[in-house]
Amino acid sequence: KAKARGKGGYRVFHSRMHKQAVSLLALETDLRKAVERHEFEVHYQPILSLAPSLIVGVEALVRWRHPTRGLIAPMEFVPMAEETGLIVDIGGFVLAEACRRVAAFNAQAGPKETLFVSVNLSVRQFDHEGLVDDIRRVLADTGMAPELLKLEVTESAIAANPGQAALLLESLRELGVGLSMDDFGTGYSSLSHLHAFPFDTLKIDRSFISGLGQIGDKNGKIVHSILALAKNLDMSVIAEGIETDVQWERLVDMDCRLGQGYRFARPGPFESVVDGAAARSSSPDTPDPDTH
Ligand code: C2E
Ligand code: MG
Ligand code: MG
Ligand code: MG
Repeated sequence: KAKARGKGGYRVFHSRMHKQAVSLLALETDLRKAVERHEFEVHYQPILSLAPSLIVGVEALVRWRHPTRGLIAPMEFVPMAEETGLIVDIGGFVLAEACRRVAAFNAQAGPKETLFVSVNLSVRQFDHEGLVDDIRRVLADTGMAPELLKLEVTESAIAANPGQAALLLESLRELGVGLSMDDFGTGYSSLSHLHAFPFDTLKIDRSFISGLGQIGDKNGKIVHSILALAKNLDMSVIAEGIETDVQWERLVDMDCRLGQGYRFARPGPFESVVDGAAARSSSPDTPDPDTH
């Protein structure tokens, strides 16, 4: 027992636990207020065709504009939002906002310049009965073409309740939207999930992309196998987290068509990201001189 180790030890232990509990409670309270006060915003990261690099879509990524702490990344609040169920409201906002933005962009774009938008879905949103109706309504309200909306779901979200997930994904499919398996390769039993659920796109987790082109290049073989598997299953592939020219080149060599990553653009406000990506497009044979 901590107490037996002396008064001081007990106090340190106790005060650390106490601080943690207090700060978690503060986060929860803050998060509830943030939902009421609409403190969330959506950033976008371009998804590109890799050869030549042209923006074909964007992934919507939520941020919390905290009144005193500034911009907060999802890692710091999405877990709490999931635990408390607040992710249902936050996710609903992200979906509506992303569809509104991209539908407006597409309305003024040429037929070959339209973008798709990917929106992350939390497993907690699966429990929410109105999810399918909510999505149907957002599509109608924003004029977003269903085939240009892709919903990203992780393997772990499906593993939590495969039966429920299967039914839900089928109803989402009936809306005409795309379904992407996010972070592919990080969960367990990836292969059985691919076969059993109606995904049309597979996103290779960035942990596999980061080692591409390094000595040994074990990741190259894994990525190669994933690409072959996807081809056999008639699925598209998006490589996540491309940071270097070498990784980009390796992916193009392996005939991976789509990707996203800091090499091309970090997530940011819609206009800056879309304009910036268009200006920087090139192919890996002729890397632009002003990027490193
Ligand atoms: P994710 O869906 O896998 O999104 C990709 C994450 O990788 C993003 O982090 C993105 O900024 C980051 N990333 C992209 N390219 C690179 C790269 O080249 N290098 C590195 N190191 N990172 C890169 P972000 O925006 O911090 O989001 C983290 C995670 O939070 C997301 O992972 C997703 O699981 C979750 N998330 C974000 N927005 C939402 C949302 O609206 N709803 C839900 N449920 N989850 C969200
Ligand atoms: Mg994602
Ligand atoms: Mg991902
Ligand atoms: Mg991820």
